[in-house]
Amino acid sequence: MKTYSVKELLSEGKTQQDVVVKGWVRTFRSNRFIALNDGSTINNIQCVIDFENTDEEVLKKITTSAAIEVKGTLVASQGSGQAVEIQAQTITILGASNPEEYPIQPKKHSLEFLRANAHLRVRTNTFSAVMRVRSALSFAVHKFFQEDGFYYVNTPIITGSDAEGAGEMFRVSALDAKNPPLTEEGNIDYAEDFFGKETNLTVSGQLEAETYAMGLGKVYTFGPTFRAENSNTTRHLAEFWMIEPEVAFMDLDGNMDLAERFIKSVLGYVKEHCADDLAFLEQRLLNEEKTKPQNERSPMPLREKIDFILDNNFKRVSYTEAIEILRNSKPNKKKKFDYIIEDWGADLQSEHERYLVEKHFECPVILFDYPAKIKAFYMRLNDDGKTVRAMDILFPGIGEIVGGAQREERYEVLVDKMKTMGIDEEELYWYLDLRKFGTAVHSGFGLGFERLVLFATGMTNIRDVIPFPRTPKNAEF
Ligand code: ATP
Ligand code: MN
Repeated sequence: MKTYSVKELLSEGKTQQDVVVKGWVRTFRSNRFIALNDGSTINNIQCVIDFENTDEEVLKKITTSAAIEVKGTLVASQGSGQAVEIQAQTITILGASNPEEYPIQPKKHSLEFLRANAHLRVRTNTFSAVMRVRSALSFAVHKFFQEDGFYYVNTPIITGSDAEGAGEMFRVSALDAKNPPLTEEGNIDYAEDFFGKETNLTVSGQLEAETYAMGLGKVYTFGPTFRAENSNTTRHLAEFWMIEPEVAFMDLDGNMDLAERFIKSVLGYVKEHCADDLAFLEQRLLNEEKTKPQNERSPMPLREKIDFILDNNFKRVSYTEAIEILRNSKPNKKKKFDYIIEDWGADLQSEHERYLVEKHFECPVILFDYPAKIKAFYMRLNDDGKTVRAMDILFPGIGEIVGGAQREERYEVLVDKMKTMGIDEEELYWYLDLRKFGTAVHSGFGLGFERLVLFATGMTNIRDVIPFPRTPKNAEF
């Protein structure tokens, strides 16, 4: 007898065959109907047991969360809930469970409660659906780039450059924390540390990816990224996954086109390949919406939101235009924003970004040409001398999902910029070398993978779209 996954049993015409399936009991009712799930799909397979002919000891152990093996015949179902079911002949208890102690009861649990049980939460419909969508999205990321002529590069996780400036870093050290070697001035002597210098966990692979783009042409990274930012928000993790394409001979317009094409491609993939999970997540969201006051409800069901992205062009707006819109907006005039927009040059907070996307344009927005002062040193200076070729993509419900730029490819301009911004030229000599030996226009962006998963699943807290979230004061598991 062949073993099948629940997904295979439900999707392929195998009725009248003898089959084996293994999984975890979701529910057992009337001493007769087992709802079995093995993680291959959101759907359970119903196994109907012959109560009279099942050993009593076995019967007792068929409880929620037990791992079992079922041998039987797949038949068209008598009941209305499913097309097929298994008429079980033999049940084997593979791993018994104590249902009284098992934290995940067959009822609705809060996401907070499930977060505290992150080692078991993937056995719920919600988390298994989210994690399957996450997996499909990762595959779609590689598929898109590989089919588009990109090469996958792995940039270092431990980095020796602290000049990236994208966020607070976690130090990596093998020194004795209690009794570190000190320099004559009394500072910690990193010359004695493992790498002979101070090292940190990477906040971005961009600078290293640029070196590879200037040889391989089109590259992308997809790896873990760390930021010791103490922002306890629903959109920040201390450890997250970032996708960073970098392309030689591509300008900012090409960069915007690439980002838009990429996002549409991966969401399209998920729509096509995760239909059951998206239908479930959509329903979950609708149920949740019902508990909210009318004016806080989101008007669009999940799959419509995804379609909306697929079917519409992202609105491209310059920073300068955006500031005008914000300055004249109701919440700004009525002082409803926490940060009131007064002058050109102000950094945009997420309240402003969300106003633009959700209230003003009501579609994804690409903001470009930001003031040089509020952006990183490596972004290409425009001819106006005060803006840089930066672009951020803002998404409804999420805010910033992509941050990117055309990079400064002119040696002199870059050196000047580093001087004014206090960036160590010696340390980044290798980055400057790219501008000395065959420099070229090039661009890229960083997309936070979890923010994409948030959007695709309709979840609202970033802690719920990564298996084991790392956030301030939380590194359990
Ligand atoms: P934010 O303003 O939201 O903190 P950022 O300006 O720090 O973002 P970038 O440095 O441009 O972001 O990083 C590129 C992308 O990485 C962001 O657009 C976002 O999708 C993602 N990202 C940044 N910080 C985090 C984080 N702490 N957790 C999860 N994703 C993040
Ligand atoms: Mn940030």
